[in-house]
Amino acid sequence: MDVLCPVHDQQGKRDVIILNIRSMERIYLETSGETLDPEDWQDFRRQSHRMLDDMLDYTENLRSRPVWQTIPPAVRDAFNQDMPEQSADMTSAHAIFMQDVLPYAIGNAHPGFMGWVHGGGTPVGMMAEMLSAGLNANLGGREQMPVEVERQVLRWMRELFSFPDTASGLFVTGTSMANFISVLVARAAHLGVAVRDEGLSVDHGLVAYASGSAHVSIAQAMDMAGLGTLALRKVCLDENFQMDVKALEAAIVKDRAQGLKPFMITATAGTVDVGAIDPLDEIADIAKRHGLWLHVDGAYGALGMLSPDIAPMLKGMERADSIAFDFHKWGQVPYDAGFVLVKDGELHRRAFATPAAYLQRELRGMAAGSPWPCDFGPDLSRSFRALKAWFTLKVYGAEKLGSMISNTCVLARYLKQRIEAAPMLEMLAPVALNIVCFRYQGSDKLNADIVVALQESGIAAPSTTMVKGRLAIRAAIVNHRTEKRDIDALVDAVLALGEKLWSMNE
Ligand SMILES: *Cc1c(COP(=O)(O)O)cnc(C)c1O
Repeated sequence: MDVLCPVHDQQGKRDVIILNIRSMERIYLETSGETLDPEDWQDFRRQSHRMLDDMLDYTENLRSRPVWQTIPPAVRDAFNQDMPEQSADMTSAHAIFMQDVLPYAIGNAHPGFMGWVHGGGTPVGMMAEMLSAGLNANLGGREQMPVEVERQVLRWMRELFSFPDTASGLFVTGTSMANFISVLVARAAHLGVAVRDEGLSVDHGLVAYASGSAHVSIAQAMDMAGLGTLALRKVCLDENFQMDVKALEAAIVKDRAQGLKPFMITATAGTVDVGAIDPLDEIADIAKRHGLWLHVDGAYGALGMLSPDIAPMLKGMERADSIAFDFHKWGQVPYDAGFVLVKDGELHRRAFATPAAYLQRELRGMAAGSPWPCDFGPDLSRSFRALKAWFTLKVYGAEKLGSMISNTCVLARYLKQRIEAAPMLEMLAPVALNIVCFRYQGSDKLNADIVVALQESGIAAPSTTMVKGRLAIRAAIVNHRTEKRDIDALVDAVLALGEKLWSMNE
C-alpha cells in the first residue's frame, strides 16, 4: 500500500510530496505555484480602468458611429488563427477587441438600430455584469445571497403580473428557452409528471395552439418537447393581426371531436412581426372553458406592464398559467436575460426537479435553501443574470422604465405619421405598440434593396418581414436611446434610397 507523506520544501515555496514510504521510492510532485491571477495587480488595475473607460466612451459617443458596418475580410480572417500556446498581455487582447470586434458588432446599442427586437443595454447593466463576473457565482442553487437576489426579482415579477406568492420563476437565456420550459410544464400538467419517466407514446395525440404570427420558438419548443411541430395548430389572424378567437375555439372543438387531446394555447403579447397583442382575456376564457394551459409569449411586450399606457392593453395576461419574457428587450438589461414565470410553482418544480446524490439538500450549511433554481429548469450551472436585472430595476425604478417603454411607442406613432405624410410610403400594418411595418412604392426586391442599403449606410438599421405576402420594411423601436431625430433620419434615408434605387432599376 502506498503511503502519502506530505513534506514542505525547506525553501518554502513549493510543496514536495514523498510517495511510497515502503519502497522508499521518492517521487516529488511539485506544483508550479502559479495561478491565473495577475502577477502585477497595479498594472492589471490600470489596464482594467482603461477597458472600463473605453466602454463608457463607446456608450457615451454611440451617435458618432455608424449603426453597423460591413466586416472587412481581413478583420474576419484575423479570427481564424491557431490557438495561442503562449501567454500574451491583456493589453494586446484589448487592442484587438477595440480594433476588430467593437466596430463590427450588430449595433443594437446604437439609437439608429431598429432591426428585429433588440434591447439597447445600459451602462448600469454593464457595470452589474462586471460585478457578477467578478463574483463568478453559480446560481444553480445552494445557500447564497445571489440566489436571494434572483428570488427578489421573482417576487417583483409576481407582483408586476399579479401572480400569486406560490408562483415560481427562473432566469433563462431568453424567451425561446422560457417558451420551451413552459411547454414542458404544460405537458406535465396534462399528462402528469410520470411523462418524465415514461416518455411519450408515438401517437400521444397532444395538440397545441398559437396564432399564425407566433414566434418560431413555439414550434421549436413543441419539437424539443417530443410533441412535434405538426401538433402546433396555427390559428388564423384577424384584420388587426391578432389571433382569431372564433377560429381558435373551432379548432379545439374539431380536434377534440377527432379524438385528439388539446392541451395548451400560446397567446402572444407583442408579435415579433407587427407587435400585435392577442386578445388575452378572450383567449383565457377559451382556455378555461376547455381546460387548456394558457401560456403567454410576452418576449418583449410583457414588460409593457411597467407602463401605465400599455398595461391596460395586456389585461388578461394575469390569467395565464405561464408567461415567458425577456429583460434584454424592452427591459434594456444586457444580453442575455430571459425569464419564465409559472403560476403553479409546485407543478413547475415537479416537472424538472431531479434528485442526485451530489446535489443532496441540507437544512443548514451551504447545501441549504432548497428548492434551488436548478429544480425549475434544465440548467444546473447558471450565471448571475439576476444581478443586472436587479440593478436595472433598483437604479432606474419601475416608473422610469415604464415611461421609457411608452416613449418607444410614441416614437412608433410618430414614424407612422411621417409615413402617412409621404406619398411614396405606405403603411402595411396597424401600429399596436412599437413596431412599424411599411414599404416604399415598388417591388419586394426594391424594398429589400432599400433595407440592405440602409444597413450598409450606417444611418439607420431596420429589418424586413412579410406582411400579408408583401415584403415590409420593419422598424422596431426598442432602444431607449432612439429619438425623434433617428426616426427622421430613417424616413429621409428610405425616401432618398428609394428614389435612387428605383431610378437605377428602371
Ligand atoms: C424575441 C422573441 C422571442 C425569442 O426570444 P429570445 O430571447 O430571442 O429567445 C420569442 N417570442 C417573441 C414574440 C419574441 O419577440
